[in-house]
This record gives sequence, structure tokens and C-alpha cells, in this order.
Amino acid sequence: CGIFGVFGVTDAASFVALGLHALQHRGQEAGGIVCHDPEHGFNSTRRFGLVRDNFTSQSVIDGLPGPISIGHVRYSTAGSKGATQIRDVQPFFGEFAMGGAAIAHNGNITNADALRRELIERGSIFQSNSDSECIIHLMARSLQKGIPERMEDALRRVEGAFSVVAMTDTQLIGVRDPLGVRPLVLGKVADGWALSSETCALDIIGAEFVREIEPGEMVVITEKGLESRFPFRRKSPRFCIFEHVYFSRPDSLIGGRSVYETRRQIGVELAREAPMDADLVCPVPDSGTPAAIGYSQESGIPYAMGIIRNQYMGRTFIEPTEQIRNMGVRLKLNVNRALIQGKRVILVDDSVVRGTTSRKIKEMILDAGAAEVHFRIASPPTAWPCFYGVDTPNREKLLAATMSEDEMRDHLGVDSLKFISLDGLYRAVGAVEGRNDKCPQYCDACFSGEYPVAPSDMIEKGFEL
Ligand code: 5GP
Ligand code: SF4
Ligand code: MG
Repeated sequence: CGIFGVFGVTDAASFVALGLHALQHRGQEAGGIVCHDPEHGFNSTRRFGLVRDNFTSQSVIDGLPGPISIGHVRYSTAGSKGATQIRDVQPFFGEFAMGGAAIAHNGNITNADALRRELIERGSIFQSNSDSECIIHLMARSLQKGIPERMEDALRRVEGAFSVVAMTDTQLIGVRDPLGVRPLVLGKVADGWALSSETCALDIIGAEFVREIEPGEMVVITEKGLESRFPFRRKSPRFCIFEHVYFSRPDSLIGGRSVYETRRQIGVELAREAPMDADLVCPVPDSGTPAAIGYSQESGIPYAMGIIRNQYMGRTFIEPTEQIRNMGVRLKLNVNRALIQGKRVILVDDSVVRGTTSRKIKEMILDAGAAEVHFRIASPPTAWPCFYGVDTPNREKLLAATMSEDEMRDHLGVDSLKFISLDGLYRAVGAVEGRNDKCPQYCDACFSGEYPVAPSDMIEKGFEL
């Protein structure tokens, strides 16, 4: 998901709409905006679909007045598949003794089932199926006097990954979980402030990037300025390495590095680790593009657009059912026949998850008359599901969970298949020594199976580490 908040500018909601539009790649199912001004109190709009279809008309923005606003773009992960209802769409709102508060959450709470059970037993009435709603109910049960303090109480009970943007009638609040799994950045816009999942959304509103919110940090922004706190026990950070590979936009900065440059560097590493004699290097657009450029530069094999993407389709994996996802590949990608015919082609993609994309693409490329097809993948084999806010299927559906690299190659029917090594990926994201196995610098659970936070709900349901 994507989250965005603005404090201290006229018509903050119009800035939030723009910010969410720049974060649309993080969630395309639905979006919502909440705002406040002294005259009209809190207002909100939550809708299915894209930001540009829901939040760009003057009448919608006119209905969201005030200098403080937050928003959320949603894509449903594990627990909440398929049947998203409008009541699952964030931001969520709670009315407390000291006033109202709205929250927008990116990540996934790994003990949400247990918390929900406990809260319902003690009288909480849930409105949605979302794990994020636990935060509101935990806040309601806190005895603290202020909203930020109630959030601290609530979030200390929450396990897993959370970046949260919240607001009251006078405050904008941003928090990252102690491991800092999901991103959150701070920006300055005119006399006000902005919080965003990624820096690309600061650019769109002309905000200046100030810094990242630190893992375990809470910032509380008021008329008086910004106050920083560290409410959790300190841990060594485990940022999601897959944000670098796929999830974030290439024009964003993470940890002071351009995501584009990191992806290009992954391609360079791949070319060194898994060289291949061929006529063309082609990306699977758009997610494989920067890595393909790096592979081409390092290998000296010409880069070409062998697959053309229809720009009017979204990301395939956002489609909730297998059937639509299967269709999706053809709706979205088509082979550039004239270029491919008779050529030995290296195809570069970011990841192989279920293998549906790769299989379809291989068929399309061979139909178009390619002489050879070689896959090079910009991440290690995805052998484990993510429980921290990226939608991966159950373990059984992950190709790499049940097959070796050679078996996957045969299953996909390609001439060769190579993945970047975990160390190679670490080098590409800037860890020159590679992965520190004693204390890994990132979360890489979907590749290594080493979960930095035990996924307790899933373990209870029988998931085996
Ligand atoms: P596959 O078709 O192997 O399941 O998915 C791999 C391709 O789709 C990659 O190009 C990747 O960009 C995207 N993708 C598909 N499904 C998922 C998913 O569940 N999670 C993530 N992170 N990416 C996916
Ligand atoms: Fe990111 Fe993978 Fe960790 Fe999920 S499991 S947070 S996708 S690195
Ligand atoms: Mg892709």
C-alpha cells in the first residue's frame, strides 16, 4: 500500500491526491483521503479504483477542506483477498475522548488475528476485515491522555510491519516499526510538512525531501514544529530488500540511493554471475527494465525492446484471482515480432513468483520465432511467502518452493534460467561485503526463509518455518 500525509498548507487534500497518484503503483484497488479543518471538522472520501478517477475532480476536492490531510492507496495482501469491501478501505477513523483520529497503514500486522480475537472478547466492535483496524481499537483501550501516546501504546502491542501516517485535528503523525520494514519519508512543502511512502510522491507536489523517518521513530508534527520520539525498544533495522527490486518506483530514493541505479546495478551483477552469449537483452517491462539496461551495459549485448507493454494496464499481481492474472499477461504484454525473429534473446525480469508470467512470455517469444530464450531474474528465487505487506501466494504456489533452478528451467521451457544470488543482490543495494548472515542488513525472508518477526498468526494456522 501507499500512504501520504500533509500538514500546514491550504487545501491539503489536493496535495494528498497528487501524492497518492504518484504512489499508485503501491496499490490500485482503492483509495481514501481524510482531512480536517476547524469549520467543517473531519471529512473523508473512500472509493474503489484509481486516484485519477476518484480524487481529481473539483467537487471531490472541495468536499475535503482543511490544512491537514492523510490518504491511502490499497492493495490487499494475504488475509483480505478478493472480497475487499468499501469498509476495508483506509484511512480508518476513530472518535476518542480527546477527539478524532484517522490512520493509514502500510505493512501487515502478523499478530492481527490474535489481537482481533482478544479485542472482540473485550467488547470491541470491528467495522472491517482489515488487520489495520486493530490499531484503532488498541488506541481506544489505552489510558493515555494524548492521541500520539495512545498510538505508542497500541503499536507496542502490534507485531510485524507497519509504516503509519495518522492525523488529529491539530497533528500529523508518522511512525515506522522498529525494524523499518516498510518505507516512510519526510518532506517540507512551503510552510508545511509532508509524509510519504516514497520520495517520488514528494517530487510531484514540489516538496523538498528532508530525510527518512527512522526505524522505530514516531514524528509528531504540530503548529509548533516537528517532534521526534522513539517509543519502541531499539532493534537493528531490516528494511524490505524487495522494495529495491520491485515494489518502489525507480525514481525514488531509498537510503540515499536511487532505486533505478540499484536495479541497474542488479543487472550488472547478474551479467557477471550469469553471463550468456546472445543477440539481444530485452526487459520484461516495466519491472525488469533497469536491470536489463545494467545487464546489457555489463555484457556488451545490445539492449532492445522485445516486449511492448500496453500502458493502460496495471500491475498483473494486483489482480486477485488466478484466472484474471493469467489473462493479464496477454492483455498487458506483446512481443515485438520483427525484432525477435531468429534472435537469441536474454529476457530480464524482476522476479519469478508463480511462474505464470514467465511461462506466457516464453510462449509468446517462441511463437514470434526467437531462436533461443534465456531468463535472467533480478532477485533470488522467491521460495517463501511475505507476511509483511507484499502479496505473495501460499508456499505451495511459489515455483521456487518446490523446484530447483533446473526444474524451474524445464518447467518454464526456456533454454537457460539464472537468478541473482542473495549476496549479489546485497552488493547491488550497496552492501559491499554482501549479506551479513549473522545479522542480515535487510529483510529477505521471501528469499531466505529467515523471518525477522515470527509470523505468529500464520504459525498458529500451521505454517512451518
Ligand atoms: P509470476 O507470474 O511468476 O507469478 O510473477 C512474476 C511477475 O509478476 C514479475 O514480473 C513481478 O513483477 C510480478 N509479480 C507477480 N506476482 C507477484 C506477487 O505476488 N508479488 C510480487 N511481488 N510480484 C509479483
Ligand atoms: Fe520484503 Fe520479502 Fe521481507 Fe516481504 S519477505 S518484507 S517482500 S523482503
Ligand atoms: Mg513484472
